[in-house]
Formats: sequence, structure tokens, C-alpha cells
Amino acid sequence: MFIPRSLKVKRNASDDDKSCVAKKLKPQGEKLSSEEDREVLKVALVEEETSAASVGQSPELGSLPDSDGHFASVCLEGPEESAEDSCVEEEPIKSFAKTQRWAEPGEPVCVVCGRYGEYICDKTDADICSLECKAKHLLQDNEEKGRLDSLQKPNCEPESPPLDAFYTYQEHSFILNLHDDQVENLKLQLGISVQGQKVPRPIIDFEHCGFPDILNCNLKKSGYEVPTPIQMQMIPIGLLGRDIVCSADTGSGKTAAFLLPVIIRALEKNRTPSALILAPTRELAIQIERQAKELMCGLPNMRTVLLVGGLPLPPQLYRLKQNVKVIIATPGRLLEIMKQSSVELSGIKIVVIDEDEKLFKPPVLVFVDCKLGADLLSDAVHKITGLRCISMHSDKSQIERTSILQGLFQREYEVVVSTGVLGRGLDLINVTLVVNFDMPSSMDEYVHQVGRAGRLGHNGTAITFINNNTKKLFLDIVKRVKPTGSILPPQLLNSPYLHDQKRKEQQRVNQAQNTLVTGDNLMDIIKKHDKSHSQK
Ligand code: AMP
Repeated sequence: MFIPRSLKVKRNASDDDKSCVAKKLKPQGEKLSSEEDREVLKVALVEEETSAASVGQSPELGSLPDSDGHFASVCLEGPEESAEDSCVEEEPIKSFAKTQRWAEPGEPVCVVCGRYGEYICDKTDADICSLECKAKHLLQDNEEKGRLDSLQKPNCEPESPPLDAFYTYQEHSFILNLHDDQVENLKLQLGISVQGQKVPRPIIDFEHCGFPDILNCNLKKSGYEVPTPIQMQMIPIGLLGRDIVCSADTGSGKTAAFLLPVIIRALEKNRTPSALILAPTRELAIQIERQAKELMCGLPNMRTVLLVGGLPLPPQLYRLKQNVKVIIATPGRLLEIMKQSSVELSGIKIVVIDEDEKLFKPPVLVFVDCKLGADLLSDAVHKITGLRCISMHSDKSQIERTSILQGLFQREYEVVVSTGVLGRGLDLINVTLVVNFDMPSSMDEYVHQVGRAGRLGHNGTAITFINNNTKKLFLDIVKRVKPTGSILPPQLLNSPYLHDQKRKEQQRVNQAQNTLVTGDNLMDIIKKHDKSHSQK
């Protein structure tokens, strides 16, 4: 069976009446995410005579599954479309690779020939371009499985759990038998540093995890002989279902470190989807999906979907509804889909954020001088930029204020527009940009506000808008900001108010100097004093 990526799969006009059965079937016998979905999936059974003959009758492919010439093509229709309508637009499933076009950048690629992977192989979930490549792919897959079986059976743990068994991570006896100082020494040597309560010991071998055979074999197939340090420590924590924040160099194996626990959790859950992986860029998301597919290969009902921008939305939406277990998405496309579609994503349990947190743009904190201003600016920023914004001021109830703060820490909001209530004290460590949209009325307040960015030794940036309303503070601002090396705008430096303030300050200094007793003027003062005394 084929699962086409495109919504409209067309077939030959000539076999209209006999093959367009247009039954309402669920693809692969799986349940649709929601029966009430606006869109109804229809499966039209299409008999592809030429292709069936070319694939099914080939002697070496005769024993392959699905080579009997019956293929299901799937049409996704809006409610207004009838089954007959769907049969008018037809396009045969491509029989030969050479009739398929080459993939555009970012499009799925046929695992056999590299052309556009228009279809998904129902047996392996791999992208394929045609019946010809499906047959080749299944042949290769069977051969590979046979080779791995013979190669790896002796190495696989005999007590490896069956796939449907409930997985619980238990420290392997080898790990348990290590002394504490041995573990500490190992961590030291591998550069593993951990914080947190009751952190499990690192594993040393993938076999210490007690993964199902297929997963162990997939690891070997991918060339993962031993875990990397980040995997050693992170995998057991993930397998225990604990929350993790991890940091390791690029290329250190972080992806597999979070994918393996995700796969195990998704495997035991019937719920779809059961994992959401958010990646900051399309390229990274594509890379993660590729790795996920490699590791999941052969595991039952472990389908992935890639939700990234720059590619047509309908095929992604379609695939999302095929009971996928793991979603790999960029935040922008995910939001777009969640806004537009009735896709039920509440079942998601695991949220993993990969890559450097800098790429996830920490929230911006904007300070304004009044409550109304906070509400208006927050609405305007949201409307114009689409960013997730919220206002914060003293009219908000304590519950609201607490939840806003929580949202700020958890990156639920991209922009928080606040009055001075957030100006002091709080360690908003994930804020790296403060915007003083309204310059506060005192320098003391200003220092506190800009101090919200770059807490605890982190770097931060402050952008301050000033105008003549705060002209009283011009000199103070210059004195405060200049030493930081920031470039001050010429409008400020050339402002007559600033020059006036400088002049007045100089006068005050001079005056003060005249009244002060210093080493230079001490003798003058004494002489002056003596003179006036003798005159008396
Ligand atoms: P990552 O840091 O996750 O991007 O991984 C970098 C590269 O290392 C990828 O090509 C992975 O396929 C590969 N890799 C990850 N874990 C292992 C491992 N345990 N053994 C060998 N290669 C690995």
C-alpha cells in the first residue's frame, strides 16, 4: 500500500468506473484522529494494471508484500466534495522512478533513487518515489534485516523485552556494581557534570538500557557502537521520565540522547501524537526527523511527521492526521497549523527543545510608563508581529501576575510589556533584551530596569527610547551609558538641553571648587584670613 503525500492523488481516466471504489476507509486500518474532522479521508482502491504488472510479475519481486497489484491511494477532501468529484481529478501512482521528478530542496527524497519522495512506504515508513523504488527498497530492507539478524543475534541481550512490554528503566547490574568513586572518576574523565536530585548514574553501553532488539539493531545499523558522554548521562535520565536541560557541543550526539527516551516513551503509548520535538530551524528539524526514522525503523506504529515552513502545508497537515507518534516541528509552522486546523495536539506529553537556547530567542521585556500603555503596546506588537505578547501591570490580579511570570520563565511569551512592576528585584535570567519604550522618570528606576537583562553574569542588551519628555535626564543618561562603550545618537549628543546641563554642571563644579580647601588654595585662604584679621 502507498500513502501519498499529496492531497489529490489522481489516477487514469480510463479505469474510472471499475477502480474508483471510493470507499470511506481508514488508512492502514488506523483510527482517524477525529471522526468529526472537517476533512474526511477517503481511500480509493485503484488497480494499476501497468505498474502492478511491472512490479508484481517481476520474478525476483514476486514474493514481496503488496505486489499483488492493488494499491490504495488516499484522497483528502473538504466536506463539499463528493466521492465522484474526487475521481475526476486523477493521476496514476508513478510506476517507474524515471517518471518522477527530482526533489526540490527540503522536499522528501526517495530513499532509493533520490527523486521526489511523493509516497510513503506502508511497510517501512520510508519516502519513495514510485512502485519501482518501493519494490527495490523492500528488497534492500529485507536483505539488510537478514544481514543484521545473522550479524547481531548473538550480541542482542537474550532478555531483551518484547515490544509491547511496559518499559521501566532500571540501572544495569554492571552500573550498579560500580563504586561511587569509579562513577565520579568516569564522569570527570568524560567531562560530565550534573546538577539535580537523585540523578541516575551514566550508562556505559547502549545495552545497559535494555532496549528492544530492533532498537539495539537500529543503533548498530546507524554505527552507534557506544554512547557518547552526553548520551551516557542523558539517556537514563530521559528513560526515567525526568525533565532535563542539557548542554553539550554541536556534534556530540545530543539528538540521539533525547530521541532514544522519546522513542521508548512513544512506543509504549497508544496516544498519537505522543511526542513533540521543537527545533529552531528547518534544517535541524529535517536532520532530526532523518535520525528519528533511522532509529525507529521497524518499530511498530512509529510514524513521524515533519512540520516546517517553506514547504506546502497540506501534505504536512495530511500526514499529521495519520496517527503519527512523533512530531518534529519548527515553532512557526506548528503555530500556523494549530491556528488553522482542528488538529488535536493536547495528547502531547514530551516536549524536547534541541540546540542552543540562543536560537529560541529569549523573551523581550519592554518597559512603559503606564498601564494603558502596556495593554495597548502589547496588543499592537502582537497584531503587527504575530509574537506572543502579554502586558503586566498593577491592575492584574496576583494570580495573573504569577502566571505571566511563569510564562516568562517558560518562554510561553515572546514579549512582555510591563510597567515598573517588573522593574526591580526579579531575576529574569532568560531575558537578554530590555527595551525602555518609555524612559523612566528617574535614573535609579532606569538602572533597575536595564538590570533585568544580563543577570548573574549573562550578557544583556538594553534599548532605550528617549525624547524631550525626559530631557532632565539627558546628562545622567550620557554619563551612565558612555562608559559602557555604547554609541550614543547624535540627536542626544547635540541636544541643546544636554549642553545646557553640561554648562550648569560645570558652573556648579567651579563654585564648589572655590569654596573647597585644597592643597593648592590653602596658603591663599590663610593669607586672606590673616589680612582680614590684622585689618580688624
Ligand atoms: P548530533 O550532535 O546529535 O547532531 O550528532 C552528531 C553526529 O553523531 C550525527 O551524525 C549522529 O548520527 C552521530 N552520532 C550520534 N551518536 C552517536 C554514537 N553514539 N556513535 C556514533 N555516532 C553517533
